[in-house]
Amino acid sequence: MSGPAWRLADRGARPEGTVVRLANGLAIGGEEVVVMAGPCAVEGEAQVVGLALAVREAGATVLRGGAFKPRSSPYAFQGLGIEGLRLLARARAESGLPVVTEALDEASLGPVAEMADIVQIGARQMHNGSLLRAAGRCGRPVLLKRGFAATIEEWLLAAEYVLSEGNPDVILCERGVRAFGTDTRFLLDLAAVPLVRQLTHLPVIVDPSHGTGRRDLVRPMARAAVAAGADGLLLEVHGTPDAAQSDARQSIEPAEFRRLVREVQGVAVAVGRRLAVPRPVGGAA
Ligand code: PEP
Ligand code: MN
Repeated sequence: MSGPAWRLADRGARPEGTVVRLANGLAIGGEEVVVMAGPCAVEGEAQVVGLALAVREAGATVLRGGAFKPRSSPYAFQGLGIEGLRLLARARAESGLPVVTEALDEASLGPVAEMADIVQIGARQMHNGSLLRAAGRCGRPVLLKRGFAATIEEWLLAAEYVLSEGNPDVILCERGVRAFGTDTRFLLDLAAVPLVRQLTHLPVIVDPSHGTGRRDLVRPMARAAVAAGADGLLLEVHGTPDAAQSDARQSIEPAEFRRLVREVQGVAVAVGRRLAVPRPVGGAA
């Protein structure tokens, strides 16, 4: 009998599971649950540095923030680009948090991989084979979001593109798929979490911000994600969510994020895990 199409990602290829280790020692895919949080988009220095300190204070162990933004409309805010990466580097130095940020295309991959601790490949790019291959050669762990119309098989085969270039450090991220309703922005597929953990050895995290598109649903779905076995969470936090330049409706305030982390800590313990503790990156205050 031939094995699954995702031969490198297959659980059988590494039954003990992959643990992605960042330079600061933070492990993703081990016993600890890793909380990644920050703004949807980097909007300015005070914003991203302030949020980095706020989310660290509340228990985040990775800072997120988009410099290159994949927007549905070409007229919408596209992110600060290279300047955004510079501001993320500042926030990283000030907070000691490692950074995850998106590479939108092969042109942005180089600068992103140079600055970031984890390179994010977004839902819209999950089918971009040449970008995936390049990410497989970029020398950084890759956070691979599920395309919003991708089957689990297509998602795992996308991971296979990265793995097959020699990069073993792939983190899968469930962020919701398109469904028929309009009550939530996407349908967060939490069954994918235990399923993917069965099928592959790769860590899997959940993004309940994009997965629901609604601020009031982020905290309960974050709890549910950890209960389902997620190795981490990716969350959008903003100081003044209604004024956010992108994804305002799903962004939560730092106070709500603090509540979320406290609750998720309890859920993690209930399922035999614990939240990761901060490990400052080099040169941090
Ligand atoms: C994001 O994380 O900011 C993002 C654009 O996510 P996705 O690719 O899942 O839409
Ligand atoms: Mn967003």
